[in-house]
Amino acid sequence: MNLPRDTTAGRLISVSDYESGYPEYMKESLEKVAATRAGRVGKRFTPMTAEERQKVLEDYHPDWKMDQKRELKVGHNKGQLMPHEMVDQLEAHSIVDTSKINLDKIDYDVDIMIIGAGGAGLSAAILAHDNGVDPDRILIVQKLRLGDANSKMSQGGIQAADHPKDNPTLHYLDIIGGGHYFNDPELVEAMVKDGPDVIKWHEELGVLYDKMPDGTMQLAAGGGTSRRRMHSCKDYTGMEITRVLMDEVINRQIGYVEFTAAVEFLKDDEGKVGGALLFDLDSDEYKIARAKATILATGGFGRLHIQGYETTNHYGATGDGLVMAYRAGAELIHLDSTQFHPTGSAYPEQIVGQLCTEKLRGRGAQPVNVDGELFVYPLETRDVEASALIRECYGKDKGIKTPSGMLGVWLDTPLIDVINGEGTIEREFAAMMRNYHKFGIDIRKEPMLVFPTLHYQNGGVHINVKCETGVPGLYAAGEVCGGVHGKNRLMGNSQLDLYVFGRRAGIAAAEYVKTAKVGKLNLDHVDEYEKLLEKSGIKTERKSPMVLPEYRGKKTIEHHLKLL
Ligand SMILES: Cc1cc2nc3c(=O)[nH]c(=O)nc-3n(C[C@H](O)[C@H](O)[C@H](O)COP(=O)(O)OP(=O)(O)OC[C@H]3O[C@@H](n4cnc5c(N)ncnc54)[C@H](O)[C@@H]3O)c2cc1C
Repeated sequence: MNLPRDTTAGRLISVSDYESGYPEYMKESLEKVAATRAGRVGKRFTPMTAEERQKVLEDYHPDWKMDQKRELKVGHNKGQLMPHEMVDQLEAHSIVDTSKINLDKIDYDVDIMIIGAGGAGLSAAILAHDNGVDPDRILIVQKLRLGDANSKMSQGGIQAADHPKDNPTLHYLDIIGGGHYFNDPELVEAMVKDGPDVIKWHEELGVLYDKMPDGTMQLAAGGGTSRRRMHSCKDYTGMEITRVLMDEVINRQIGYVEFTAAVEFLKDDEGKVGGALLFDLDSDEYKIARAKATILATGGFGRLHIQGYETTNHYGATGDGLVMAYRAGAELIHLDSTQFHPTGSAYPEQIVGQLCTEKLRGRGAQPVNVDGELFVYPLETRDVEASALIRECYGKDKGIKTPSGMLGVWLDTPLIDVINGEGTIEREFAAMMRNYHKFGIDIRKEPMLVFPTLHYQNGGVHINVKCETGVPGLYAAGEVCGGVHGKNRLMGNSQLDLYVFGRRAGIAAAEYVKTAKVGKLNLDHVDEYEKLLEKSGIKTERKSPMVLPEYRGKKTIEHHLKLL
């Protein structure tokens, strides 16, 4: 390989001299992809029939592997199937020794505490403020830095039915079909109706969405959608929206603490959630936060690496909120269902698992096999598309092996410029281009090697349209919740979900705290849960929530401990 590197600046370098950024042995397959490209322009691969979709899901989708799940043995969701990795978190002791916690010394005392500073948490804070709560009576608790979240990493965009040829009813039908009819209809209705307002709100705050020359929104297609309704900011959509919301939170002087993880909720003597026990990751000290209302916005569980899959998720996506909420008595739904994004990076090794946005397929990139053949309609719903990719690699043996032994198929990105005109990739996929450039791959000239990656937690805490969890004083919003996407989320609908329900949670909590009072705090529910574990016959040394994932092997940890 001969890779010219730019050592002088962080900018992209000219790619005219590039040789392939892929290993030599992949050349033959790459040449087949290039040779078949012209013939595939405009070629429409017939979408699968309902029966074909069902079959490929059953045969290849990780969610259909029943030996990879088990029934939960503890709590009120007892008997429900969930991935082993999730059950392991719920069937575990608390990381907190409750006998050592002094609940009389209150470190933070506020009206509303928001746990998690992704899009859902930031929107909740802004709307709570808009609805009369003083900024210094709001506290955002964030275990990494403000904005370190899946929300910031979102690439492709956000759906909302605001085009004259579209409407919320069509959006509603797409979501219900995509979710295999398991969706909570009231949540879906709330989401699609609020959608256009969310986009308007973003724009008023300063989000710069991509526009057509006439000033109207540039809208892209997504898998399983009947209209183009994806709004984006190049492929930096989450970065742009989070930038604006973070500025808003900071400018309004809303309180926040960083590097502080919530580890258990606190309840009062009436059983209401009255705040949370926090762990300061800098000082290794517990802190007590009392709040009249608590909004859970901790996002997803990608870092549990369900079935050993790589993930697109950020480092803090360890499912803490699910564990805390369950111990506090909230109901969980649809956690048997996990989303595997069809196109995670399979090569270069340094970025395995990272997302190759669905918008690439929305703009014309096609999945093709080792022989350069298009083998699936590129915009099937995510679960079907992912299954088809796995089938191509493992069922039909038409994948390409990476140096570390992983299989993948090509996502033929150069087609995007062929179809939409030169410059489209550079203009619309700046993040993707940059990411691959670092490894000498020019996605305008060469395809990406991809394989499904763990992306999204379809299920979660059950809420109603006011984001109430059923546990008084506890609200939830964003990816930590389940119900709205049923058993399969369509692209762009999570970004919408978290702003719709983040805003609703902020409004509902602001109303609640007008009259709410917090009694004497306790951690009794955590002790009760311990008893339930014992009663259920669960014998384990596991502890949860995880807070941060551990990637050092046992040997390395032992070595580190010896050095201390
Ligand atoms: C790479 C990538 C690309 C995506 N692209 C799209 C897209 O184009 N369109 C779309 O619709 N969706 C997309 N998604 C999904 C979507 O962005 C997420 O589902 C969404 O951002 C979740 O928002 P959230 O606010 O609920 O959680 P997050 O944004 O993940 O925020 C959760 C926050 O809670 C914090 N936290 C977690 N546990 C604790 C704790 N114990 N104590 C304190 N803080 C805690 C985390 O550190 C984090 O800051 C993408 C996801 C990823 C990973």
